[in-house]
Amino acid sequence: MYGILYLVATPIGNLEDITIRAINTLKNVDVIAAEDTRHTLKLLNHLNISKPLISFYRHNEQIKSDNIIDKLKSGENIALVSDAGTPAISDPGSILVKEAIENNIKVISIPGPCAAITAITSSGLDTSEFSFIGFLPVNKKLRKEKFSKLSQETKTLIIYEAPHKISSTLNDILENLGNRKIVVCRELTKIHEEILRGNVSEIIELLSNPKGEFIIILEGNKSQEEENELCNLSLEDHYSFYQKEGLDKKEIIKQIAKDRKVPKNDIYKYFL
Ligand code: SAM
Repeated sequence: MYGILYLVATPIGNLEDITIRAINTLKNVDVIAAEDTRHTLKLLNHLNISKPLISFYRHNEQIKSDNIIDKLKSGENIALVSDAGTPAISDPGSILVKEAIENNIKVISIPGPCAAITAITSSGLDTSEFSFIGFLPVNKKLRKEKFSKLSQETKTLIIYEAPHKISSTLNDILENLGNRKIVVCRELTKIHEEILRGNVSEIIELLSNPKGEFIIILEGNKSQEEENELCNLSLEDHYSFYQKEGLDKKEIIKQIAKDRKVPKNDIYKYFL
């Protein structure tokens, strides 16, 4: 019988965040595949668990996946862990999971810490819909294209960033997405956890010497959201909305045409 592939979430700082199910899974599997075996060894020593470890990081994911699939096919149960948080979320794992599924191997995710969820839930920004971006592209052209796409996104954005790049990324956000509401979470679940709330320019000033791990939660494009909501109204209600705002007939027609991306004349004729 084939073994099971377990994806085991591990703490993002505070070791007390490991779940009982995660500990039991790590105790019971035959092998643990780890992003950095030395890092995982520290966690295993803390938990008094001794298991064979194999290294599984982004640059060997494809080759190692085949190797792990062979082991699973021979009946071994394997746990995949990353350095911190949930495997396959801006961490290696998705290639292995895809291959496991293609090979009819059962995949079980043991839920637990994830920086993205920890950050957005304490942000105070809209959690009803959000878009997980992970790390922004480093390549200039790809980065510009990404910002251009993100500029229209109405959902709350979750962005991971390395400490040495946080300042330049915040400046890029200000330049490309505007001075929106933002929450920057630092060192989540650790002793020096800090949550900075404000608009982008305020947070740039606060972060003069950034140290530690950071995650950015950014408000979606609110003007786009308002525009979308207005377009779902009847033309009469759309008209009344601007009338209540104090606009005259000419301005209202111009604004409705702009919101709905239709010629001004069409709106003018409708209201004749
Ligand atoms: N798989 C992980 C997860 O589930 O959150 C994410 C791994 S990704 C390689 C690492 C990034 O997650 C960091 O650069 C940072 O943006 C964010 N991160 C991880 N731990 C964090 C923490 N304790 N506080 C703030 N951000 C953290």
